[in-house]
Amino acid sequence: MISFDKAKSIVNKNITALDTESIDLMESGGRVLAEDIRATFDMPRFNNSAMDGFAVRASDLMGASKNKPIILKLIGGIAAGDSGDLSIGQGECTRCMTGAPLPRGADAIVIVEDTSGFEDKNEVKIFTESFSGKNIRYKGEEISNGDILIKKNQLISASEIGILASFGYAKVLVYRVPKIAIFATGDELLEPGEVLKDGKIYNSNLYIFSELVRQRGFNVVMKEVVNDSPESLRIFLSEALNNCDIIISSGGVSMGKYDYVRDIFMELGVEEHFWKVTQKPGKPLFFGTKSGKMIFGLPGNPVSSFLGFMVWVWPVFDRLMKVQKSQWIKAKLETPFPQEPIKTRFLFGKLFVKKENLMCTPSSKIGSHMLSSSLDANCIIKADPGQGDLQKGKDISVKLLPWKNLS
Ligand code: AMP
Ligand code: MG
Repeated sequence: MISFDKAKSIVNKNITALDTESIDLMESGGRVLAEDIRATFDMPRFNNSAMDGFAVRASDLMGASKNKPIILKLIGGIAAGDSGDLSIGQGECTRCMTGAPLPRGADAIVIVEDTSGFEDKNEVKIFTESFSGKNIRYKGEEISNGDILIKKNQLISASEIGILASFGYAKVLVYRVPKIAIFATGDELLEPGEVLKDGKIYNSNLYIFSELVRQRGFNVVMKEVVNDSPESLRIFLSEALNNCDIIISSGGVSMGKYDYVRDIFMELGVEEHFWKVTQKPGKPLFFGTKSGKMIFGLPGNPVSSFLGFMVWVWPVFDRLMKVQKSQWIKAKLETPFPQEPIKTRFLFGKLFVKKENLMCTPSSKIGSHMLSSSLDANCIIKADPGQGDLQKGKDISVKLLPWKNLS
């Protein structure tokens, strides 16, 4: 049996980075960039108009006003999308729409509202003065060619997708998403929808695992309820070891006569890094690797499985996806917490703000079979080993469940 901290460092040392793949920009939301993205041109790419109006030479408009308009010769028009290959000289102007390239010689845009309008054919009255640069978006004023736009390891969201699109990236290099196998063991397990029989229970853990993987945006590639038989486990696990990056199991890793999971993992060449951690719930946690694949054997009690997934597997997902991992933070206990003398103790709980203090209440249902302890929870509470209950008002570590908010 090893300590929580020792076990954590072993897991962290055995995370194998995933390779990369090039995917369509439209598919890239929620993925993590595996390369720096650079600007391949200046942004804006060319001097252009910020408003619908007329491209002018500001120096031509000195003294212009509503009562004393200055008349300019209209020599053409430029729309957004035109190449803008026009020049204006003294006393001349062109129509120039938002996003349209500025004609040579122009140094300002007068908005159409300050003119006699777009209907005029050969001449335009300008009712205002201007200055050089007015309503012009200059080439490169936002981003220079060659600048790093987005750094490697950035999670891709709407902002990144927008920038990638605006620089014409149709494909992006991202880290591959891990292929996940999940399985539950137990001859007692029935599926929701089946008719209950004596001694049987419904399988909840595989549903929890599936949802957690889905929450994360990963794919469950293999999922099965496996009998408590070495043969069944062998068949499922050898296939999972061939096809998946991470295997997560529930049940069958304790001291029971029918707990074969660990034996079969090892028979199939999985290197055991530890089995049994000084934690409660979920002591008989198994962790092994084979050729860069990670295997987590979580005990079957639903709270052990759920908390075990969040405490042991979720942070590995974070690391693989280069995401800033969520931290344990301190909150004050609103009610006592049942510490354990030599084990790290976890419970679901409720995190909330009271008079600007971060407070938490552990679930009163402390059994590892009591899945309803997770129902009202928005956090996991963790206490290092210690004697007696941690009393109300004491600081304790908490971690918000990623899909929940402070209550
Ligand atoms: P085990 O870790 O296999 O010894 O199982 C510990 C406890 O968790 C037993 O009471 C099992 O019936 C229960 N259990 C195991 N797997 C599941 C599951 N998938 N869903 C709900 N309860 C389970
Ligand atoms: Mg079992």
